[in-house]
Amino acid sequence: MAERSSIEWTDATWNPVRGCTKISPGCKHCYAETFAERFRGVKGHPYEQGFDLRLVPEKLNEPLRWHTPKRVFVNSMSDLFHEGVPDSYIESVVDVMVKAHWHTYQILTKRSTRMRDLLDTKLRFGAQMPHIWWGASVEDKKHGVRCVNSFV
Ligand code: SF4
Repeated sequence: MAERSSIEWTDATWNPVRGCTKISPGCKHCYAETFAERFRGVKGHPYEQGFDLRLVPEKLNEPLRWHTPKRVFVNSMSDLFHEGVPDSYIESVVDVMVKAHWHTYQILTKRSTRMRDLLDTKLRFGAQMPHIWWGASVEDKKHGVRCVNSFV
């Protein structure tokens, strides 16, 4: 989404997916939804469709065009592992991260079960790369802890 970010723990945001749906109590005050819905119906705005989930293939190669190394928050406005994002599209996102290896990528998901399953299978090629940080958002025992324990 942006070559620069105001988020203090990252340098840039990259949103090859936009929009999401709520999955747990931690989604209640989702900042991304609040931001996106402000622009629903605004012609030509990236969030013209509000927080509706959609793929943004024209954004896929963005990190390849950023020549200075950055910490990149992947999908600050979505969840890469949302059930509406096809496996093949997630593979394309990871493929770009592997190719543009001079950046460090920060992925955070609330769909950690799907992330774990794909890292064990179709995404194995990107699972062990030190410049890709795979993160799960953990709320409590019901939402996240059980799955995170299965990573260790
Ligand atoms: S998973 Fe993340 S982006 Fe999606 S609704 Fe919940 S808090 Fe928002």
